[in-house]
Amino acid sequence: MSKIERKANELVFSFPHMGDYHVPIARLLENMFPAGRVLVPPPITKKTIELGSRYSPDFICAPFKFNVGNYIEALEKGANVLIQTGLGCRFGYFGEVQERILQDLGYEFQFFSLARENAKVKNAYQGFRRLGSPHSPAKFLAYVLIAAESIRIMDHFAFIMRERTGFALRPGSFEYLYGCMLEELRQVSTLRELIAIRRQYTDSFSKVEVRRPPDLLRVGIVGELYTLMEPYSNLFIEKELAKHNIVVSRKMSAAFLLFGKNSRKSLKDTGKYMKYWPGANATDSVAQSRRYGRLGYDGIIHMKSYGCTPEINAMPVLHNLGKDYNIPILYLSFDGQTNETGVQTRLEAFVDMLEMRRKTFEKDSLSRGGHRFHFDKGSRS
Ligand code: SF4
Repeated sequence: MSKIERKANELVFSFPHMGDYHVPIARLLENMFPAGRVLVPPPITKKTIELGSRYSPDFICAPFKFNVGNYIEALEKGANVLIQTGLGCRFGYFGEVQERILQDLGYEFQFFSLARENAKVKNAYQGFRRLGSPHSPAKFLAYVLIAAESIRIMDHFAFIMRERTGFALRPGSFEYLYGCMLEELRQVSTLRELIAIRRQYTDSFSKVEVRRPPDLLRVGIVGELYTLMEPYSNLFIEKELAKHNIVVSRKMSAAFLLFGKNSRKSLKDTGKYMKYWPGANATDSVAQSRRYGRLGYDGIIHMKSYGCTPEINAMPVLHNLGKDYNIPILYLSFDGQTNETGVQTRLEAFVDMLEMRRKTFEKDSLSRGGHRFHFDKGSRS
């Protein structure tokens, strides 16, 4: 692995991968630290997982291992400041343990964890200042806002892409446009530029020709955040579904966390199915599944990392919900060692079953002269 040239005292920032979010995060760090450098870790490969698994506790969930693999690869390339975040489960404590593991491996670096108290705006600002960011609070907030808006734009178009990509007359059109948009977001410096990007790609996406067959299948995806958002960790399930010409809906995203998540509302939206919040996004998984059930989706795929306690708690609830709404649910658990062929086989069997159910349903429906199908116009919110 070739190492970058680093000047004396130069700060080289890095952070773990999660889907395409390295684009706004790298831009945010470049804006925050004009005198430093940002090193996006190499794309996740089998080697990343091997490294992460070798140096992580056995029992820990997969996101921890993926992160450790990313950090080691970034440190080997010359990074010396590592950033971590943290959310409402053990993820909030990953930073401390990962820092210790990497120190024990002999690496020299600074570690900045934006978890718990450090995630509060005032503390985050002071932390960035300590690391050498020269900006005033107003400038700091402006850059955070640009990053958050970039994420909102990315996720907006990613949602549209997931729903439509299986039906593009020219396969790959949505992916191509999405890639171009990421390139532009990588350079963005002002909110005005962001508004222009959103407008431009709203126009471009609407011009992509799609042919949706009238009997299309719709599948909702729910589950653990990292597994859903890092395609390598779920073995690119969404792409596989698109190959089967399936409309894929997934609300869970970084934009959902930043702008849409409301734990109280989510618990209420679970209806009779949940009384308490079991941590992380388990209530969102149940609330969103209930919505897919009500909207007449053909199936739900629940994905999580092995050992993800919040989502394990959601599974029996989903089982009851699936029975009540007569909607099949495929449960998939992943870690770095998950067998790709096994997952593919289960996915294909699931899709075959959905197709058979649809045919049976259509026969019954035609004989009664009805059709149950209606589109989910609000699913992007
Ligand atoms: S949500 Fe689950 S898999 Fe993700 S970090 Fe928390 S416990 Fe681990």
